[in-house]
Amino acid sequence: MAVDATQPYDDQNVFAKILRGEIPNKTVYQDEFALAFHDINPQAPTHVLVIPKGAYVCWDDFSAKASDAEIAGFVRAVGTVARDMGLVALGYRLLANAGTDSHQEVPHLHVHLFAGKPLGPMLVR
Ligand code: AMP
Repeated sequence: MAVDATQPYDDQNVFAKILRGEIPNKTVYQDEFALAFHDINPQAPTHVLVIPKGAYVCWDDFSAKASDAEIAGFVRAVGTVARDMGLVALGYRLLANAGTDSHQEVPHLHVHLFAGKPLGPMLVR
């Protein structure tokens, strides 16, 4: 079911469990502010999820409540992951679903990073 972006943070969501080490993940990067790991159901040759370590439901929650350090750290981590994975030259796409219309499924902010082939139009028409 799609996430209601206004709901309180649910610490039983799958990414909270990954952050606590209760569920395995294929980590590609982590630092003080962010964890990046391969999506379990990749939709491109490279499909990585980057999540903040703090408890934020979605972009709205994060941009309203996170500290400047958390926001800067998270944004820098997304860029670092793409750079470290060698994705800058051919390019990549970032996508963050927030709330019902976007079909956000996991209620912990995540940025999808897609790459590895021409990615086509941005949205299905
Ligand atoms: P969204 O629809 O934006 O909320 O995307 C949620 C994403 O999380 C989907 O692409 C799922 O394949 C991915 N996902 C769900 N569970 C896991 C998991 N345990 N490990 C890695 N990715 C997951």
